Amino acid sequence: MERLSISIADYPKPGVVFRDLTPVFADGPAFRRVVHALVEQFEGRFDAVAGVGARGFLLAAAAAYATGTGVVTVRKKGKLPRKVLSEEYALEYGTDMLELHAEDLQPGSRVLVLDDVLATGGTLAAAARLFERAGARVAGVGVVMELAGLGGRAALEGRETRALLQV
Ligand code: 5GP
Repeated sequence: MERLSISIADYPKPGVVFRDLTPVFADGPAFRRVVHALVEQFEGRFDAVAGVGARGFLLAAAAAYATGTGVVTVRKKGKLPRKVLSEEYALEYGTDMLELHAEDLQPGSRVLVLDDVLATGGTLAAAARLFERAGARVAGVGVVMELAGLGGRAALEGRETRALLQV
């Protein structure tokens, strides 16, 4: 799977190496394998799949469709039109906010949270907090790629986390 990600130096800013996973999404058999691998460990233990950000939505929608569950979106601040729950999380400089339509979830739902990349874990930890505040349970966290050494595992400590690839 590693050959399907492309490393981009100095993106989005100097000194950062960005892992671009869009080739995985563009390759039908690879995308299918990725989606199945992300859900298999959690099979039968979730009622909804959540995606975080645009690349997370692609994975979550496919995983939800494949497993007959619902899909929930965790959005950046200001994108959802009804009442939201909000969680702030740290960026390298400053903070950002994630939001959720908590009313879309049945109380006690078990949510599998997906994203493409785990880096510092700030994004997925904030998403997990949102679901817990909404009265749901986080069944697990799945990512295609974990950038090991950036602290993501520690940020998600206590949560069952599946990374298909660690770099
Ligand atoms: P974190 O909050 O774990 O530091 O960053 C993870 C979030 O930023 C994810 O939503 C992920 O999509 C995005 N992200 C951070 N670094 C990368 C990267 O190298 N490649 C990709 N594709 N996304 C990244």
